[in-house]
Amino acid sequence: MIGHVDADCFYVSAERVRFPHLRSMPVGVLGNHGACIIAKSYEMKAAGVSTGMPIWDATPICPQAVYVKRDFRWYEALSRRMLALVQEVSPRVEFYSIDEQFFAALEPTDGFARQLQNNLLTRVGVPVSIGIAPTKTLAKLISDSSKPFGYGVVADDRQRRALLHNRPVTDITGIAKRSAMHLAAHGIETCDQFARADRAFIRWLLTKRGEDLWWELNGTPVIPVQAVRPKHKFVSRGGSIGRASCDPARVQAFVVRNVERLVEALMHYKVCCDQLTLSLSFTDRPERSLRSSLLGSRADFEALLEAALHLLPQVWQPSSAAVHYMHVIAGCLRPLAHRQMSLFEQPQLHDVKHRINNAVGRFALRSGSTLPLVDVYGDAANEYDICDIYGKSCF
Ligand SMILES: [Mg+2]
Repeated sequence: MIGHVDADCFYVSAERVRFPHLRSMPVGVLGNHGACIIAKSYEMKAAGVSTGMPIWDATPICPQAVYVKRDFRWYEALSRRMLALVQEVSPRVEFYSIDEQFFAALEPTDGFARQLQNNLLTRVGVPVSIGIAPTKTLAKLISDSSKPFGYGVVADDRQRRALLHNRPVTDITGIAKRSAMHLAAHGIETCDQFARADRAFIRWLLTKRGEDLWWELNGTPVIPVQAVRPKHKFVSRGGSIGRASCDPARVQAFVVRNVERLVEALMHYKVCCDQLTLSLSFTDRPERSLRSSLLGSRADFEALLEAALHLLPQVWQPSSAAVHYMHVIAGCLRPLAHRQMSLFEQPQLHDVKHRINNAVGRFALRSGSTLPLVDVYGDAANEYDICDIYGKSCF
């Protein structure tokens, strides 16, 4: 049997652990630019505030709320405490995301779930919901539908059918809007309809991913609990650049910042890459991305930056559109230790930079090209991002 633990409104709960007076009030957690709500308390949700809503739309709806900026370093500290506690009661635990773990449930009972829930609340301070079932997909479906602060165990077929009955297919993790549309076109709108559908048909319609979910919903585990994170196929750094910008210096500075972050990540995983992709999203145009092959396998700032800056004018002209999101993505990864060097490689400054930043502070030594981002580096909230939390199996 497999268990799934999921913290209830985790970022808000984490703020309430260190600021207990927030327990009695609606709380919204803001993204790194302080503009959008990325997490909200249940009181705020009841008032009509939704995730992604800008603060200027949320304050008129919920004027009595407290808004705080996200602090992933603190959320990670609590996340590790949650993980350690679940590891005490299970020999195999997957660090699925910052506030979710899957685990091998040795004692699949209501009593065990209640005990774990109480332990997490008293020892970590975070309320969670828990599901226990024969498969990951069922366990997650239970915890999602038990929120807030609920738990449930599906141990037999009658309980499994009751869980799936009339529940929309979009409640299944892995069935998003597009898959749901394909399914609806064939009259499949609920989880029970999905589970009763012909397996070969589901595979034809939704490929192997869909078939895996079909098995899992029917109680046969095919997606394992991964105690060790699987190897990366690619590593990416980026995200929102705050207010959309047409300013070439600002956009280029973000490219440089994200390449510096990417190099850190490659160093952490001890991998280098043969390819670099630059992907930009705009406010009023479709996303554009281009890939470049590197000269040899690289993980150093100079080579990756050169590739990224080579791609930038091909992906975007300053007069054409305002950039909103960007990602730099390292692909064709291989172990750094097995790196084939190129003929023209120079000795690297990188190691010195890495050592100084490790000793003094993350961005203490950084490229001068990032100087236009005074606002970004001036705000401590930007020093640590959610992708800086290593070991999660779900991005
Ligand atoms: Mg959660």
